[in-house]
Amino acid sequence: MYRNLLICLLMATALTGCAKLEKVNHFLPAALAWFNQTEQELLAVGRPLTAEELEIAHKVGVSQPEKVRLVVRPDFPIPSDPELRREAERLRLGSDWEGGRTMGYAILLKPEFATNRTMLTHELVHVTQIDRMGNEDFLKRYLIEMELLGYENSLMEKEARQVAGEAF
Ligand SMILES: [Zn+2]
Repeated sequence: MYRNLLICLLMATALTGCAKLEKVNHFLPAALAWFNQTEQELLAVGRPLTAEELEIAHKVGVSQPEKVRLVVRPDFPIPSDPELRREAERLRLGSDWEGGRTMGYAILLKPEFATNRTMLTHELVHVTQIDRMGNEDFLKRYLIEMELLGYENSLMEKEARQVAGEAF
């Protein structure tokens, strides 16, 4: 009896997982196009890291710290495509909850975090993940982790929080 229940539960979990992966695959091409395009726009307007910030980037292990650009603004970009926008908003992109975001070699910070070293370190860890994986695999894995594990349990977020010395 319990064994059957357990099998059903495992199958239901697996099916839910499959549906979630299917969803990530469905959105990935459009999400990646938006991610890459927005990265380029941000790189064009962002400022290079200061000497102190470069030091943090070196310490964290960013391969080319001089290529990082920082953009401080109160509103973070969200996709204009309605379907993609709904998904982005479901992940709380563009909301007050977001203090920082990394898009390739572009780092966005809200004005209240403009000089926050912990927040910058956290985002620079995401840059090292992008170094390791490239934009496409970074985005794919990030979205899969958001779907299957959620923000709190995402391994990529845990790595960023750990290196930045944030409380778990
Ligand atoms: Zn993060």
